[in-house]
Amino acid sequence: MSKWIDKELFDDFQKEKTEEKDSDGFRSANVWATPEKGTTENPKVYEGRFLPDPKGKFYKRFYYHMWQSADESWNFVLCNKTHDWKNYCPLCSATQKLFKGDDNDVKQAYAIKRKEKFVGNWFVVKDPRDADKEDDSKVSGTLKIYEFPAKLEQKLKKEITDKREGYGAEIFDPGEDGRNFIIRVLSTKKDKNGKIWPDYSNSSFSRSRSAIADSDEKIDAIMKECVDIDEYINNLSTPKPKVVDVMKAEFLWDLIMDEAVNQGYEDDGSEPEPKDEEPKAEAKEDPKEPEDTPPWDEDEPKAEAEEPKDEPKDEPKDEPKDEPKDEPKADNGDSDEDLLAELADM
Ligand SMILES: [Zn+2]
Repeated sequence: MSKWIDKELFDDFQKEKTEEKDSDGFRSANVWATPEKGTTENPKVYEGRFLPDPKGKFYKRFYYHMWQSADESWNFVLCNKTHDWKNYCPLCSATQKLFKGDDNDVKQAYAIKRKEKFVGNWFVVKDPRDADKEDDSKVSGTLKIYEFPAKLEQKLKKEITDKREGYGAEIFDPGEDGRNFIIRVLSTKKDKNGKIWPDYSNSSFSRSRSAIADSDEKIDAIMKECVDIDEYINNLSTPKPKVVDVMKAEFLWDLIMDEAVNQGYEDDGSEPEPKDEEPKAEAKEDPKEPEDTPPWDEDEPKAEAEEPKDEPKDEPKDEPKDEPKDEPKADNGDSDEDLLAELADM
């Protein structure tokens, strides 16, 4: 190494780069872009195959908190209940406390509350967006990670659990017994707020079986690209000190400090990072700016706001770990999510 390079600094940099996650803290670049919606009559149609991960696992549910700060920056915190329903999550706890507060508190509760998605490996067979892309950026024929909404998961679950009529493991089989999933995205009619939402209800598994490639070697090559789903979710995790910082910046830390400290979250005594109270005007004018893009596409219509009876003080006691049935739907209406959808549509 020459004198022009500071070896120590380079070693530090190398370490930093080695430990760097391939996502920007939110998502991996390999995540399939959320399908776009067609019209109320003509769906946009996408086709692909769900595939098991290298350990043979199929897909997983995860919970997260995502909301926009006053300065319009986005916050993402993986919910600890992703791993075990009994886990303590400071954001879930703050949500419960805010729901008992005044109107502003309730509004904030809706913004920060837990949301749900599923993630699995997805071999893209057909993506109509390829038509506008250069050959080297087309996604058809490639392996992606698909973070999909509960609406679509219902379709998979039905095939898996209906032992008489369901397609069972065929929906994950890359070989000639496998079946593609056809995602048909319509637009809903305008709701009373004038919003249009994607409607996935016509999506279905293919009635015919097919292999995703014409030789075992090619299928093996595709399977080798599949991503370990547990690892993928772990990479979304937010370190505890970062969670504390985020909660301080949102003035939520004091609400839950005592219990959070008991749970191993440390308050280092630092002041919250100053944030601009005023939204940046120029950011609004140019929604294409990367920092103004929501890090996560919300793609489900949100029901009207309900009483938050489902942010339980008592966690469901006898729920199996992975199937929190009483889990509140992530789609109780709130303006933050409307905003998200709006931005996602831009
Ligand atoms: Zn949570």
